Amino acid sequence: MTRIYPPSVVAKFGGTSVADFDAMNRSASIVLADHDVRLVVLSASAGVTNLLVELSEGLETHQQLDKLETLRAIQYNIISRLKQPSVISTEIDNLLNNIRHLAQTATISPSDALSDELVSHGELMSSLLFTEVLRERHAEAGWFDARSVMRTNSNFGCAEPELSTLHHQVETHLLPRLEQAIMVTQGFIGRDAAGHTTTLGRGGSDYTATLLGEALHAARVDIWTDVAGIYTTDPRIAPRAKRIDHISFSEASNMAAYGAKVLHPATLLPAMRKSIPVFVGSSKDIAAGGTLVHNTTDNPPRYRALAVRRKQTLLRLHSLDTQPSCSFLAQVFTILSHHAVTVDLVTTSENCIALALDATHATSGEDHVLTTALFTALSSHCRVEVETGLALVTLVGNQLTQATGVCKDVFAWLEEHTVRMICHGASNDNLCILLPADAADSAVKTLHYRLFE
Ligand code: ADP
Ligand code: ASP
Ligand code: MG
Repeated sequence: MTRIYPPSVVAKFGGTSVADFDAMNRSASIVLADHDVRLVVLSASAGVTNLLVELSEGLETHQQLDKLETLRAIQYNIISRLKQPSVISTEIDNLLNNIRHLAQTATISPSDALSDELVSHGELMSSLLFTEVLRERHAEAGWFDARSVMRTNSNFGCAEPELSTLHHQVETHLLPRLEQAIMVTQGFIGRDAAGHTTTLGRGGSDYTATLLGEALHAARVDIWTDVAGIYTTDPRIAPRAKRIDHISFSEASNMAAYGAKVLHPATLLPAMRKSIPVFVGSSKDIAAGGTLVHNTTDNPPRYRALAVRRKQTLLRLHSLDTQPSCSFLAQVFTILSHHAVTVDLVTTSENCIALALDATHATSGEDHVLTTALFTALSSHCRVEVETGLALVTLVGNQLTQATGVCKDVFAWLEEHTVRMICHGASNDNLCILLPADAADSAVKTLHYRLFE
């Protein structure tokens, strides 16, 4: 069984925590201050993944040159602050050259596989630079290519890790190196069986950290970001949001699944399987403390938090059969499963099924989910209506289905909004409301004021 001895900590730093040299230096101080940190998982520097995604979509030459120049500037702002820039600049130049070639290919024949290959360069560059920052601070630090252990399927843009292979590879390749030095690796990226680079979906570095934490039986996983913990809602929307000091896996996992961006939706699954506590804190202000996510909390409150998931699409499928038929649901879900479409919200009427689809996490966006092949398959059974530009606001709590008056109050507070769909009852612990995207912030502010302030 794979274990790091003594039980150790995996520390993950998000984009803002490795945005520039000063941020990297602060993050390096966090790593060096805690001797239990053996493995560091990094995101790309802030903004880099977005630039790479744009390049992977195939840009006009002048736009391409602009983006390439911006990328180069981000890397060289860091390199120029190193004591010995030449140690690393050749490797970064090679990666920047690869990016340029791949971006040119993307203008001729873009593909999801090419996109993942291109996008992976953000994490490759930040991890090389961070390793150098640690070494210049006299740490024994090594760079580790996460793709050599993170085997995934070939679902480019939102690949699923293969756990048994991952655990075996970690034991064989990563564990021995952790015994010698602090290892710095990339979040977000993996490799399929054919050797192609894959990505775990936007924000996927959190997931990498807990997956590796699970494989190593880590004592804790620390997620360092730009906010001092998990709050009752996104503090950017409701500045009076309060930090939650302790939260259970199931509550935080529910928040993440319903859009609390502070954690990738799948982050807590590996941690839950092995009961590994996950700490969330700000790399800019470690004294501010943070949130500890663990097995249970005392007296879980009725209302815990509000989450919002943007870029939602409502599909309404009207059966072509005039008579209500029990096979309609079966046909539709068979097609959805065949096209790997995950549905977490559904309501039905006699002849119509309404589904909310989420495209937030696929690196390649909405088109990845709503393919022509899907529409063709559906259209032989139903008329398809698509409504985009929606957002899902979710109240996460405990035993909400046992509470009286929740719906009455929530709907009264949201009376000025056009509610497009509601889901309540399937889960005891959340109430989901789909509404126009431009109403989401105001709905969250209103609900937050009423429920938490
Ligand atoms: P990183 O790049 O470090 O992974 P992210 O931008 O992915 O950081 O996540 C941090 C952001 O998550 C915060 O800046 C905040 O705006 C947002 N966020 C959304 N919901 C919450 C919440 N409930 N608590 C804290 N932050 C939240
Ligand atoms: N760099 C990737 C993104 O921006 C993964 C991550 O940061 O977690 O989505
Ligand atoms: Mg993130």
